Amino acid sequence: MSPRILVVEDNPANRELVTDLLEAAGYQVHAAASAEDGLRLARELRPDLILMDLSLPGMDGLEATRALRQDAATSNLRVVALTAHAMKGDEAIAERAGCSGYLTKPIDTRSFVESVSRFVDPGYPTPTQD
Ligand code: MN
Repeated sequence: MSPRILVVEDNPANRELVTDLLEAAGYQVHAAASAEDGLRLARELRPDLILMDLSLPGMDGLEATRALRQDAATSNLRVVALTAHAMKGDEAIAERAGCSGYLTKPIDTRSFVESVSRFVDPGYPTPTQD
């Protein structure tokens, strides 16, 4: 069975682009437009990877990642942050919230799938509990 990826992204164009690229590469993709829907789907689907936009309306991606980490049902799921704000320090903030990695927007359509595949690889470290 192909790996499942949950994309949590409020921007429709980005959500569609990421979904199209990953589906074309053979992944099963589920998408959510809000952190709340993302948390619900994460519990239901237990995806192999969650791509989490950090900037979401309402609950943001950092808060959602912390919520995933605190729930025993989702605490071991791998989360990779997606953010348009390639600010120095963001990576450390994302890691402290429980993200395993970091991808920047705009999406580079030539390298995106390869970057994602590294995080889906079973050899990539899963989150450790504090
Ligand atoms: Mn956003």
